[in-house]
Amino acid sequence: MADCIFCRIAAGELATPLIHQGEDFVAFRDIAPQAPTHIIVIPRQHITSLADLTDPDLSGRLLQAVRETAQREALEDNGYRVLINIGQHGGQTVQHLHFHILGGRQLGWPPG
Ligand code: AMP
Repeated sequence: MADCIFCRIAAGELATPLIHQGEDFVAFRDIAPQAPTHIIVIPRQHITSLADLTDPDLSGRLLQAVRETAQREALEDNGYRVLINIGQHGGQTVQHLHFHILGGRQLGWPPG
């Protein structure tokens, strides 16, 4: 989608460095990190939110991409959090499905 910032990152149209990528996904650092490590993992294809992710094979590949990305960032030993914001009440601000990976500090619970 031409006016989607994450589609533009996936297409390489912006200077955003990709820290991991595969056939179906790209991963890059969040521009406003909420933890020492804060990574965004997105499908290359435009999917608005988790509510629109109906392909079970792609769902599995994206989850594996998240796991791989966390492993490459050496987050596994101390743990990390993966979250997806969905729609207005979920606090989703970019309308392209994305997984947040947060780590590098003790994270609080519950979220606000
Ligand atoms: P959400 O609130 O779940 O929709 O999260 C969107 C996330 O994308 C926020 O954490 C933003 O800081 C992040 N973000 C927005 N634009 C960019 C960008 N150009 N590069 C990297 N991260 C971005």
